[in-house]
This record gives sequence, C-alpha cells and structure tokens, in this order.
Amino acid sequence: MSKASQLFRGKILHFPHATDNPDEDVVYIHDGALVVEDKHIVAIGEYADIQPAYAHAHATVIDHRNHWIMPGLIDSHLHFPQTEMLACYGEQLLTWLENYTFPTERKFSDPNYATAMAEVFIRQLLKNGTTTGLVYPTVHANSVDALFNAASSMDMAMVTGKVCMDVNSPDPLKDTPTQAVDDSLALIKKWHNKGRNCYAITPRFAPTSSREQLQGLGELAAAYPDVFIQTHLSENQQEIAWVKRLFPERDGYLDVYDHYGLVRPRGVFGHCVHLSDKEWARMAEAGATIAFCPTSNLFLGSGLFPLDTARKYEVPVTLATDVGAGTTFNMFRTYGEAYKVCQLQHTRLSPLQGLYLMTQGAALAHQLSHSIGNLNPGSHADFIIVDPAFDELTSHRLHNKDSKEETLFALSMLSDDRSIRETWIAGSPQFQQQEK
Ligand SMILES: [Zn+2]
Repeated sequence: MSKASQLFRGKILHFPHATDNPDEDVVYIHDGALVVEDKHIVAIGEYADIQPAYAHAHATVIDHRNHWIMPGLIDSHLHFPQTEMLACYGEQLLTWLENYTFPTERKFSDPNYATAMAEVFIRQLLKNGTTTGLVYPTVHANSVDALFNAASSMDMAMVTGKVCMDVNSPDPLKDTPTQAVDDSLALIKKWHNKGRNCYAITPRFAPTSSREQLQGLGELAAAYPDVFIQTHLSENQQEIAWVKRLFPERDGYLDVYDHYGLVRPRGVFGHCVHLSDKEWARMAEAGATIAFCPTSNLFLGSGLFPLDTARKYEVPVTLATDVGAGTTFNMFRTYGEAYKVCQLQHTRLSPLQGLYLMTQGAALAHQLSHSIGNLNPGSHADFIIVDPAFDELTSHRLHNKDSKEETLFALSMLSDDRSIRETWIAGSPQFQQQEK
C-alpha cells in the first residue's frame, strides 16, 4: 500500500546542489509543488506537471500559492542556555562572559531546568524557521541530554556536544581533562548518529581549556573522524592577546587548536573576525568551516567579518545567530545584518548568497546535504512556509515587487517571526502560526 502523500503548492525556492554562484544557480518555481511522504521529500516541480501524477494517489493538496516554500534554515552557531540572556547591556566578549554568561550557565546543573529551557529554545528556533542548529549547551552532560531529547522527540536534526572548560572559568562550571573526555565519549556513544543527532566535541574556546584537556579532546576527535568539532576563534582583540599569553609556544590562535588535531572538515569555528593570512590559508587547507555571526560581532563590538577574504581563500562560510551575544533567533534578519557588515567594507552579499549560507551552503559545509538544506527528493522534509507580506508595511513594500531577490531582502530588513507561517520537520508540522 502506498503511503499517504501531501502535496504543498506554493512559490518554491532552493539550491539543489553546490554552487559558487547562488545568484544564478538557484531553482525558483512560481507555481510549484513539493510532495512529501512520511518523513521525506519525494517530488518537486511545476504544479501542473506534478499534480496529475499524484491525483490518483489521493494526495492531500495544501494550497500556499501566496506563500513561499523554502528549506528549513540552518543556524551554524548558537548557545541554548543563553536564550534567557539576549540583549544584556554594555560589555565586550570577556567581561560579557564573566558578568552575564557564566552566572546563567550555572543554572543548567539542574536537569529539570535544562529540560525546560531546551524546550523554550527549540520553540524559538521553530517559530523563526530554523530546523537545524549547531548548538553549545553547558559544561553539564545533562544539558546535552536535555537538548538531544527535545530534538529527538520531533525527529529534528541537531548538532551539539558538552562544553569543555577546565581553566579560567568559575569553579562550578569547570570540568577536568579526564571528565571532559569521559563525558564527551559517553555522550558520543549515546547520541552520535542516533536518529538525526550528530555530536560535536565542544571546547568553549582556547582560554578555558588546559593543554591537557585539548590533548584529550584531540585524541577523541581522532578516534571519531565524523564527529563535529565546534569552538570559537579570533572573535575579539583582547581574547587573541590572551591566547598568545596563555599559549606562547604556539604560532597564533588557530595553531592552538591545530596542534591538538582539532582543525579539520566538520570543524566549525565561530567568528574568525581577525585571522592572519597564514590562518586563512590553514583554514582552507584543513577543510574547516566558519560560522559568521554578524549580530553578535556588532553587539559585542568584536569587529567586521571580512567575507571577501574568506572568498579569496575559499574557506566555507555559514551564517549563524550566536544567540545570546547575537540579538535575534531569526536567520533572515541575521543575513540582513551580515549584509550591513559587508556594506561597511564595500563588499556585496546578495539575498540569494545569504539564503545559500543558511541552507544548502551550510548543509554542504557540514556534510549533511543528503538530508537537509535543500528540497531535493530523498532529503528529509524539513521546510518552511513563508509569508513575506505579513503586515501593512511589508505588503506595500512587496506589492508588484515580489521577485525572489526583493522578497528575501525585504525579509532580511523588515521581517520577524511573523513571516514564518509554518515550520515542518521530517514531514510533520512542528510550528504553525495562529490565524490572524
Ligand atoms: Zn558563541
């Protein structure tokens, strides 16, 4: 017996494969059909072509002709315990960590608190159209369980891993080299490649890990070559100077991670605002990925990410909110701030390039494009229904100007979670906006 099919009719926009030119190499179908069976996409194309084939199968047609259908968005760097501390005033990175972040993260030693906040966090992702995150929890193993459990309950593709930090942080948030490795190993065995979950070895950043801890995590990474590695790199000048003092024997910040075997494909480095030429070249050579976090870099006064340099060295770049130093969960708005960061440097980041960095481009960088980031048959049915003209202002802005570029750009400057009507994960509606 064939499975029940659902046919979504709307304006379809996605990137089916890798491209250096997202402005041209994009699929847009004005009256499109996306067919979902069970958890996966089974067909995509013109409605007029697809509909007859599924009429006999009694497919349910869901009419979104006024709306856009896009892949679920990928946020490549954010912190779930910081959900409750967006928009804390007045600091740059190191004092912001000390005054706001560490006190908040201490609360997650309580498993019940971590479980409750994981659910709040995932609701924020879903209402903003984000269907996969590369997420930092806290140093507590139970915070990893909380997030994977919440994601697994809806078959959501999640990447996360216990934060490791054994020095230069408050005692209640410290682990040890041995505990970091033992906990991470146990969590890899429990969660990595179980369902749609992927584990990420997560040293917070070089200043909060001892040499012994980095050594242990590097050995663990070597034993699990398909596990992610995520950390922070060259965000802030004071941070970089501190790393130089802490690791005088190493040739710069990236070399600290590199020395311990932590720079490789599926290594995702947050920020990279102030890399040297040598570091750019090494990132490219190692196949590592950058998470560009524009709202966070502006909020903490860290600097302007040099996208042109990343392009020159051909280092894969993804977009990320970095909540809670980032100021929104919304990836369209995050692209809008990336556009402004580029404007200040007389660099272009077009709307379609921006969408690529939060869908297929990110999925390819993370080696997950068989499952997420696109609307190809065979991929998981993770997609969003977007209504860019959701209020009076946006309706006027987009009246008779609803090209894909105009629409995405208006979303990036004028929208918020009101533009996301529905978020589907693995073929199930996990968020649906209340009717106005
Ligand atoms: Zn971060």
